[in-house]
Amino acid sequence: MKEICPHKKCTGCLACYNACSNNAITLRQDDCGFIYPEISLSQCVNCGKCFKVCPVNNIKDFYYPKKCFAATVKDEKDLCSCASGGVASELSRWIISNGGIVYGCSGTDIRRVRHIRIDRLSDIDLLKGSKYVQSAIADLYRHVRLDLKNDKLVLFIGTPCYIDALKSFLSYKDYPNLLTADIVCHGVPSQKMLNENIAYYTNDKDGIKVDFRKKEKFLSKRDAIYRISFGWFLKTIHTRKAIEKSYTKDPYMYGFLKCLTFRRSCYTCRYAQISRCADFTLCDFWGLGKDAGFTNGKGVSCVLVNTPKAMTTWKEVSKSLNYQEREVIEALRGNGQLQAPSRMHAKYEKFLMLYPNVGLKKAVYICTRRDRVKELINGLNKSMKNLLKLITRK
Ligand SMILES: Cc1cc2nc3c(=O)[nH]c(=O)nc-3n(C[C@H](O)[C@H](O)[C@H](O)COP(=O)(O)OP(=O)(O)OC[C@H]3O[C@@H](n4cnc5c(N)ncnc54)[C@H](O)[C@@H]3O)c2cc1C
Ligand code: SF4
Ligand code: SF4
Ligand code: SF4
Repeated sequence: MKEICPHKKCTGCLACYNACSNNAITLRQDDCGFIYPEISLSQCVNCGKCFKVCPVNNIKDFYYPKKCFAATVKDEKDLCSCASGGVASELSRWIISNGGIVYGCSGTDIRRVRHIRIDRLSDIDLLKGSKYVQSAIADLYRHVRLDLKNDKLVLFIGTPCYIDALKSFLSYKDYPNLLTADIVCHGVPSQKMLNENIAYYTNDKDGIKVDFRKKEKFLSKRDAIYRISFGWFLKTIHTRKAIEKSYTKDPYMYGFLKCLTFRRSCYTCRYAQISRCADFTLCDFWGLGKDAGFTNGKGVSCVLVNTPKAMTTWKEVSKSLNYQEREVIEALRGNGQLQAPSRMHAKYEKFLMLYPNVGLKKAVYICTRRDRVKELINGLNKSMKNLLKLITRK
């Protein structure tokens, strides 16, 4: 079997699949549910396009950010419905308002999370929120190319490996009508794992909605303050059942946040650095100084503006945002994912062996025993310290 790139480095970006004009590449799901391309030797004419287009075989220079901003959308309700500060949605709104097309990840059918093409303002809601799973891309790069050739303004939002794949598929030609925005990403589990987790909670085949983070309101001494919680938030649409689990109580989210369940390539991700492959980079502004004044806890986007094209667009888009310029170094210091790839969990290999045989819940449980013991001890220590503080105050 011919390999397009080393198996352990394959991100599943599907640049190769999109580039093959002989339909000689099929997609195979491995035991953990990750998709890999496979060349069908009977159909392959050895043209070499797939090898040439594969970003793993094709290393390009990235851009060091020109500017960095902390930003949120102005409308509070809108802000609460977005993953972070809502800049991805605002960029999408600007593009569509200017007659353009947006490609992004939709979790409306959470059992089949995938990239879609939208051209109506009312469809922006379909893309909102972070879906912590690998998004299916299918043959969408071909559609992007067609839109670009038809002189449409296009915004493509995705994980950096998908942005690099799209650019490579377009032969790194600088289309003036293409804008890209990469979402800082620390790794992706598979759709198979996600579907298995859903089945632990519901058989409702009709409508369900799953969120992986939630902006929760709590009351401080004076005001209502929000905080972002990571967890498993499932709603069945017809029966109106709501299931809420903190990340420690849900196997999918626990495995995700412990870096146990990712695709292998994520642990050596070459996009996990401050130099970026997209025009814009969007992430949470962890570590943002209090002097920036974004203190309501509803999430703040960090926007890295990486290219002159992005700078021109930012001047327009920022008019409808609350924003403040910050130092690139502040973003870098606060966000480990802008420094290095996620560290592989010590039990990763064991997880890969166990999961296909015993299922997600059991495999995560077995492989994270040490983490849970550690967390229990830390929790006890914290409670003891608080108790001591209380006693000494009296
Ligand atoms: C798998 C994953 C891991 C992440 N890890 C980190 C991290 O470690 N550190 C950090 O700072 N930020 C991380 N993020 C990014 C962060 O959670 C927000 O998605 C980002 O800041 C955009 O927020 P927003 O409010 O502008 O998005 P919104 O306005 O809510 O729009 C969400 C945008 O995200 C895109 N999107 C959602 N899910 C996916 C997906 N699975 N694949 C590709 N695109 C997707 C949609 O196309 C949409 O445009 C991660 C996101 C994902 C999906
Ligand atoms: S070598 Fe050419 S024909 Fe064969 S799989 Fe790759 S792109 Fe397709
Ligand atoms: S182009 Fe993408 S999917 Fe194809 S082999 Fe390379 S990394 Fe894997
Ligand atoms: S961690 Fe890197 S390789 Fe993995 S999905 Fe994210 S960008 Fe792609």
